Parts: sequence; structure tokens; C-alpha cells
Amino acid sequence: MTAAPSARWKEVARAAGLMRGGVLASTVFAEMSALAARTGALNLGQGFPDTDGPASVVEAAAAALRAGHNQYPPGPGIPALREAVAAHQERRYGLRLDPEREVLVTAGATEALAAAVLALTGPGDEVLTLEPFYDAYAAVIAMAGARHTTAPLVPGPDGFRLDLDALAAAFTSRTRLVLLNTPHNPTGAVLTRAELAAVADLAQRHDALVVTDEVYEHLVLEPGAVHVPMATLPGMAGRTLTISSSGKTLSLTGWKIGWVSGPAALVDAVRTVKQYLTYVSGAPFQPAVAFALTDPGVAAWVADLAASLARRRDVLVEGLTAAGLAPVRPEGTYFVLADPAPLGVRDGVALCRALPGLAGVVGVPVTAFTREGSATDTALRAWVRFTFVKRDEVLAEAVRRLAGLDRARAASLAA
Ligand SMILES: *Cc1c(COP(=O)(O)O)cnc(C)c1O
Repeated sequence: MTAAPSARWKEVARAAGLMRGGVLASTVFAEMSALAARTGALNLGQGFPDTDGPASVVEAAAAALRAGHNQYPPGPGIPALREAVAAHQERRYGLRLDPEREVLVTAGATEALAAAVLALTGPGDEVLTLEPFYDAYAAVIAMAGARHTTAPLVPGPDGFRLDLDALAAAFTSRTRLVLLNTPHNPTGAVLTRAELAAVADLAQRHDALVVTDEVYEHLVLEPGAVHVPMATLPGMAGRTLTISSSGKTLSLTGWKIGWVSGPAALVDAVRTVKQYLTYVSGAPFQPAVAFALTDPGVAAWVADLAASLARRRDVLVEGLTAAGLAPVRPEGTYFVLADPAPLGVRDGVALCRALPGLAGVVGVPVTAFTREGSATDTALRAWVRFTFVKRDEVLAEAVRRLAGLDRARAASLAA
């Protein structure tokens, strides 16, 4: 007997881009992180902060540990956190939620996404996402047995923008769910009200639900860009589940405290699935995140984080430009996408494997976020994602190394 994944899991792995030549490969993220570790290159691939979250929030978790918050919390999450999420949504966006029935605490946004897709879709349904997309989306859509369809974000002078004609064409009578993400990983786009209105109009006309991943809601970096939750658009609160998380907002990505909010019937369905995925998690972290969502000092810390990320983005965008790449200035998130076409490079995977040798840095090929063979996959074949959620001195060193990028060797990479 050989240890082999089931046919169903192979299908999931294939949809998630994990099967290469019929065998299960490690993710490109793991490959690039291992490459960074092996070569001593600076890892601008995976997006996690290299500094800690607010000390007061860490202290609140330590206090909760000592105070005995160490057993299973309630299934839907502790009341204080559900109330803090509801208060946050009302204060910030004018969205009224019943913390008893319309808010559910999850093991990070990741579990909320998985449970929502599993609860709301199945074989015969189509789930429409933007493309490129966060890599977990393809996997959970495949786990649900649904079909993944996409609408492209296209680079231009105003950043990555949603192709509205392609969006309309991507909707069918089988579109059950639109899985949206703004601010958007990996492009850094913050969807405009007009883009969201186009999605909302189509979702209503096709009677589709919307699940919106807003984990970067507080990390908008452009004065002109505003985060607009889909649930605030006319007619959308009744068909939208909103997902967020403490990981990106508080630079505490290891805590995995997320939440989902929306109509009670939809939240109920998600809770039923979540019950049998993790049941509950993060007992001592839940009171700490409840504190974080209500404390004005933490809100100021988050605003400072966004301002600091905007500066760090500018440093990396300039460094990439000086190295001969063509970055698209992101409006939010941790990430910038860059086109190496000016260097004559046409294959992002080959470039990423060579980057430690060429410049002593590591990025992730954008094809890790596309569907093999799609129009976006072709258009962004050469592109690379870099993160700027690193300390100033790390970014300064990355920029110094990028300035020495070996252009002749880059140009000679096999196309
Ligand atoms: C990081 C990230 C997540 C995962 O959030 P967790 O709370 O760590 O599970 C989900 N969606 C996007 C777009 C992300 O970048």
C-alpha cells in the first residue's frame, strides 16, 4: 500500500495549483521561503510582519492566560468579542449587527472563508472571484466541489482595476456566490464604490450571495482611496457576509482570531460548518482582541501602522523601479506587484528562482495567485509579488541589493 492522497484531494490540490506532473508539490510560498533561508536572501515573499503588535494587546492576552481563560470558549466566540465586532462595524461603517446572531468568531479569516464557501456552495454552483486571487480561495472552492470562475483585475495608470465587461460576462445563472476581497491581496487594489456597485448590481440581478474578505480594511495607504464594505451598498446587507481578522490589522498574524458577520441565517449556516472544523479556538486571544477593537490607543497604533506602511511601500516601489522593474503602486495591503518586462524577463517563476542570485532578495511569482491558462495567468506570467511589511532597515537593505540587480543575467533567463 502506498500513501497517496484521495482522488477528491487530488482534485483540490490540482485546483489549488499544487499538482505538478501528477505529484503533490509544496506550495510556491514554501519553496521561496526555503530558498531565502538557504541562500541568505531577504525574504520579501511571504507577507508577515517582522515586528510585534501593540504591547497593550499582547499584555491583555497574557493577563487573560493568567486569569484562566484557558478552556473552550463559547462556540460562536466570547460575547465581549462579538459585541466589539458589532460596535466596530457600526462606529466605522454604520452597519448595525446583532452580536448574538449576526457575528461569529473564527480561527482567523481563513476558517471563516472555508466555512462560508462550504456552507453556501456545492457541486453545480459557480463561485466567482477576482483574479489574481488569494491562494486559499481556489482550494476551498474545490473542497466544496463548486466551479471557480474569475473576473480580472487589470494593471493600468490607476493601479489594478476591475474589468467591468469581463465581470458581467463572468456571471451566469449558476453563479451562487461572489467571493470578493478588498483591499486586495495580491494587487493592493482598493475597490472603488463604482466597482463595488457593479458587482452589487450583478449579484442582485443573478440572485447571488457575496462573501467579502476585508482583512486589510485598516491598511489603506492612499489618501484618495477609501475602504467601502460591500454590506454598506444599497440592498447588499441582506446577501453579504463580511469577513475580517485581527492578524493584519494588529500585526499578530499568529493569533488567528477572525470573524464573520451578516444576516443571521447565513451566519448560522457558517457556524454549523465551523462547529466541525475547529469548533472553537484562541480562548485567551479573544478577550485581547475585544480590548483591541474598543481601545482608542490601539486604534491610534493601527493608524500609525498604515502611515508607516505607506512610507515603506514608497521605499520599495522606488527601489523596484530603480532596479529596472515596473511596479504598480498599491493603494492598500502589504504587497506590491512588479512587472519585470523592462528587464526582458518573461517568466516570473524562473525570475523568482533566480532572484537570490541576481539581487539577494526573494519574491513570489504572481502565477501563484492565478488559474493556469486564464487570461490573467497569461497577462501576469512574468510578474512578481513583493511585501513591504518589513522593518525599515530590512527594506533599505533590500533596495540596496536591488540596485545591484544583475540585468544582463536577468535578461538571459530562459523565456
Ligand atoms: C492573510 C489573509 C487571510 C488570512 O487571514 P487569517 O486571519 O490569518 O486567517 C485571508 N485573506 C487574505 C486576502 C489575506 O491576505
